[in-house]
Amino acid sequence: MNLTTYPISLPLRHTFRIARHAEDVSENFYVRVEHHGVTGIGEGAPSPRYGESVASGMAAAQRVVANLAALDSPEEALKLLSSLPIAGAAARAAIEMALLDLLGKIHDKPLHQLLGIDPGMLPPTSFTLGIASPEEIRRKVLEAEPYRILKIKLGSSDDFATVEAVRSMTDKPLRVDANEGWTPEQAVTIINWLETKGVELVEQPLPAGDVDAMRWLRARVRLPLVADESCRNAEDIPGLVGAFDGINIKLSKCGGLREALRMIQLARQRGLKVMLGCMIESSVGITAAAHLAPLVDYVDLDGHLLVAEDPYEGVGLVDGALVLPDGPGIGVKPRALSA
Ligand code: MG
Repeated sequence: MNLTTYPISLPLRHTFRIARHAEDVSENFYVRVEHHGVTGIGEGAPSPRYGESVASGMAAAQRVVANLAALDSPEEALKLLSSLPIAGAAARAAIEMALLDLLGKIHDKPLHQLLGIDPGMLPPTSFTLGIASPEEIRRKVLEAEPYRILKIKLGSSDDFATVEAVRSMTDKPLRVDANEGWTPEQAVTIINWLETKGVELVEQPLPAGDVDAMRWLRARVRLPLVADESCRNAEDIPGLVGAFDGINIKLSKCGGLREALRMIQLARQRGLKVMLGCMIESSVGITAAAHLAPLVDYVDLDGHLLVAEDPYEGVGLVDGALVLPDGPGIGVKPRALSA
């Protein structure tokens, strides 16, 4: 089978700002795997936070071209992929996604069925508001009208004003993500105040490396704390027990759908809640992740909604909840873009 890679630039609707940086375009890459005229597609969303880029991700994916060329089925390729050293979680996620999409198309089965997941009802997704001035925040809250849950990025000097601005506009459930932006003492003050504002959880309050500080914080606040930057893959989970109440799983952070399934299982065994999150991605990566949504507690799959022109269409949205597309594999198809 034949693997190809190409970069994609996804211009955003608005500048997206979090505690450590801001961006106007998300730079990702696609992997295509073609076998006997059937093509699977996968998306990698490399994060500089984890030392990955489009160039490093595409190079890592290119290195398996020769390994796959000799194989005659996506099943064999998926088996081989598990044992291959691949530099970068985004590349591994994208290759596996393309192989599973291909496998689904060959067997005429949607991805969730291939993975043994009953689609049932998908939880509503949160919609993320990046860091912005209170005026901008109020405008964004209006734009977020279709979504039932808002996720607010904090970790700037205006955290109190930001939350007050959101609360002046809506009584929707709120989730907060500090992206490692607070000190332990700040975190105690802010999180205990957030509890009075109807916030239901807080993601990554402190820098990822400091698990002892997280345990200290955990003993001083009541809101559930969710590990994102502190939890890259299943290996990290045992060390987080007692420091966090849940983990945020992202395909391009952990290395793909099968690792995500292992993480869900391990988190459950350790009594941790599970959030399914994303990078800023097109509908390819987001729809693939959505097939796992029936298994998790919190869904934060809004990356494609922040993109101005999504090259693909897939997962839909009805009354704030995700709706899986019909069709085999991931179920995405190219979108007819406006001129
Ligand atoms: Mg996060």
